[in-house]
Amino acid sequence: MGCALCPRACGVNRSEESGFCSADDHLLVGSIVVHRGEEPPFVKGAGSGTIFFSCCPLKCSYCQNMQISHHAAGNVLSPKDLASHMKSLEEMGCSNINLVTPTHYTPLILDSLDKAHDLGLSLPVIINSSGYETVSTLKLWKDYADIYLMDLKYGDNAMGRILSNAPDYWDIARQAITYLFESAGPLRTDQDGRGVKGLIVRHLVLPGMLSNPFAVLEFLAGLSNEIPVSIMSQYNPSFYPGDISDMKRPLSADEYEVVLERALELGFSTIFSQDMDASDTYVPDFELLKPFGDEPRLL
Ligand code: SF4
Repeated sequence: MGCALCPRACGVNRSEESGFCSADDHLLVGSIVVHRGEEPPFVKGAGSGTIFFSCCPLKCSYCQNMQISHHAAGNVLSPKDLASHMKSLEEMGCSNINLVTPTHYTPLILDSLDKAHDLGLSLPVIINSSGYETVSTLKLWKDYADIYLMDLKYGDNAMGRILSNAPDYWDIARQAITYLFESAGPLRTDQDGRGVKGLIVRHLVLPGMLSNPFAVLEFLAGLSNEIPVSIMSQYNPSFYPGDISDMKRPLSADEYEVVLERALELGFSTIFSQDMDASDTYVPDFELLKPFGDEPRLL
């Protein structure tokens, strides 16, 4: 049957060919690490048990994970192998299983989670996504995912088209986030501050504010300013190959500050922010033994 797991709905038979995302019917994993670079509710204990999936339905032109997202570097794992890695992350003291860009492998990962639960896995599961999601695929995750860590990358369709070849990004992502807010509510934490359930939204502010952050924040506030927002400064221009001049430079401190101020004006109860040197701190190199510095790596 033709694949329609993501909004591209390219309809390929993945047992015969790859889709726009570059994925076929094998489960390709870029890296598995104990990650400490996520927001505070997700890095309690040893850190976040983070599984980076190779290939991507969105493929932003400036992606910092390009080695695995665009170039499909990674290792083929069976659902049984992946389940065993999930259980290992729990035994290493991680506070969650963080599935980065899982959409195009949804059925295989759900099979892995069934197997991991049979092994005793009890950690919360995070869907860590670009926000370019269909509601029908999100519904498949309903009994498996606890936390939705969703990007809202652009506040208009034009930049979705220009920077991610997704001219419907803003329309699709708003539908996805509205559905997740209505079905899962805002992120809740336990008494130790660990994220356990609900929705949190990330926005990477692009230089020149090309990502239209005010529209993003105003849309979210219209749903609820109880949704935690993570406003990110870590844009790194070295990955962008295009000719938009603003995209060839880092974000300025003034640009970032005005976005944080707007989030405060809109009354968001939880705002996560980053230092201006975050672009140096959080850029992984998946060819290294430890892509995020000293963080333990399983794969
Ligand atoms: S997940 Fe991949 S193969 Fe499936 S519709 Fe999306 S781009 Fe096409």
